[in-house]
Amino acid sequence: MIEHLLIENVLVVKIGGARGINLERCADDIARINRPMIVVHGVSAMMDALCRERGLPIRTLTSPSGHTSRYTDPDTRTLFVEAAEQMNAQLVALLRTRGVYAHGLTGGDVPLWGERKSAIRAVVDGRIRIVRDDYSGTITQVASTPLFHALNQGLVAVVPPLANSSDGFLNVDGDRAGAEIAGGIHATDYVILSGVRGLYRHFPDESTFVQQVNGGDLDSALAWARGRMKRKVIGAAEALAAGVPRVVISDGRAASPISQALNGIGTEFCR
Ligand code: ADP
Repeated sequence: MIEHLLIENVLVVKIGGARGINLERCADDIARINRPMIVVHGVSAMMDALCRERGLPIRTLTSPSGHTSRYTDPDTRTLFVEAAEQMNAQLVALLRTRGVYAHGLTGGDVPLWGERKSAIRAVVDGRIRIVRDDYSGTITQVASTPLFHALNQGLVAVVPPLANSSDGFLNVDGDRAGAEIAGGIHATDYVILSGVRGLYRHFPDESTFVQQVNGGDLDSALAWARGRMKRKVIGAAEALAAGVPRVVISDGRAASPISQALNGIGTEFCR
């Protein structure tokens, strides 16, 4: 077995897959930040575009508790893997043209493992159904060896929101994937970039912007978050619970989005 040195001061960044985030600015910023780093990315906009191009419907599942996710049936899964690989290659290329030694962990190198539920009760297109062919899942394990290997070589690993499983690749949530990775490699900071400034008590009322959330306030933060912000707050809570000292949810549209987050601009979560 290969032994890897534990690397200190690691930064994990989740770059959302929605349209609002400026990938070029993110790449410029990563090139400026001189720290060991792992990037996790989303795929939502790229996936929606591919679905439209190939005539595949975009469908959502809503769990009885109100969580929504992409209905990833077998055909959608095939396209999701393609979208994830395209997005990964695009980010790696943007980073390499800026002199960053980026390495995409796709195909056989995907470092996450997960499992799916073989039957879920969900609302699909307004009707309650038992869904048996959904290939989204939850993360059960992070293979830290390829991540430490990349860090030890001075590479920035770029990780898609996919997990290996006995049923093939699963669609997993990128915010929670970043949290698992940050916990698994003992990162110092986890930055989650979004299409908004951070968390609001009453979105989008600017006067209710939340600057800081301490461990004891996590339940309130979860109640304030709706829609896609909910998973980011769950990710923040999971990273803190896994020992990451600081998580910042911040604005991916800013000029230097990651540096800005590290300077505390955004919603900062501390234990
Ligand atoms: P992703 O990175 O997952 O593609 P976004 O950056 O769009 O997604 O996720 C954040 C979204 O969550 C915002 O666009 C906003 O509409 C929504 N939202 C819901 N509740 C809140 C809240 N309390 N504070 C901030 N954003 C919220």
